[in-house]
Amino acid sequence: MGTRRASADGDRRIGRRALIVGGAATAAGAAVLARDELARWWWRVPGIEKPREQGAVDYTGARWVAASDANWRRADRPDDFGVDMVIVHVTQGSFDSAVQAFKNPEHKAASHYIVGQDGRVAQMIRELDVAYHAGNRDYNERSVGIEHEGFVDRPEDFTDEMYAASARLTARICARYDIPVDRDHVIGHVEVPGTDHTDPGPHWDWDRYMKLVRRARTAQADTGPSGSPSATAG
Ligand SMILES: [Zn+2]
Repeated sequence: MGTRRASADGDRRIGRRALIVGGAATAAGAAVLARDELARWWWRVPGIEKPREQGAVDYTGARWVAASDANWRRADRPDDFGVDMVIVHVTQGSFDSAVQAFKNPEHKAASHYIVGQDGRVAQMIRELDVAYHAGNRDYNERSVGIEHEGFVDRPEDFTDEMYAASARLTARICARYDIPVDRDHVIGHVEVPGTDHTDPGPHWDWDRYMKLVRRARTAQADTGPSGSPSATAG
């Protein structure tokens, strides 16, 4: 009897979920949603455990490398904490040294993404989870952190490839959580209250970066929610 009751409840839940998904799809104005897009709507419905797949990334252009779980906290964003901010960092070291640092449990810090000077992107923590990157609990809980390979006092480290790749990533994050593309919501580590960090430093070209993010945001909107026909995650 208990089993049958549970099964009936389960059926009702699925029915309600289908209804919510259907409503969202209509609101988006899309006649046909790609299967991956439907999957994403599905896990955005509150109260439903989001599937976690080993090696899965939130951004199509990223390669997964797991950070030590001492450097982040498991969460269920954006359901438990809303995400309304992207925080820009500079590694003060090479891409590989940042990867190694984030894999090290003694480091006690890591960001979700690292962008290299050649434009490659590594994701080390899921956006669902809270990464320890801002040195401020509230800001960690509400933000996605992106590291950039280089040193704050070396303007030549901030390459065209890095700006472009990072802008595409930030545009995608802003789209996913409805974050306005402005300097109140895309900020530097230096702007986090209470921080003693100076990154990304005076050579980070904010005007150029924000222009690139806005352009990428528009281009992504034109090509549909998944960005490209082959995308499996955004
Ligand atoms: Zn930083």
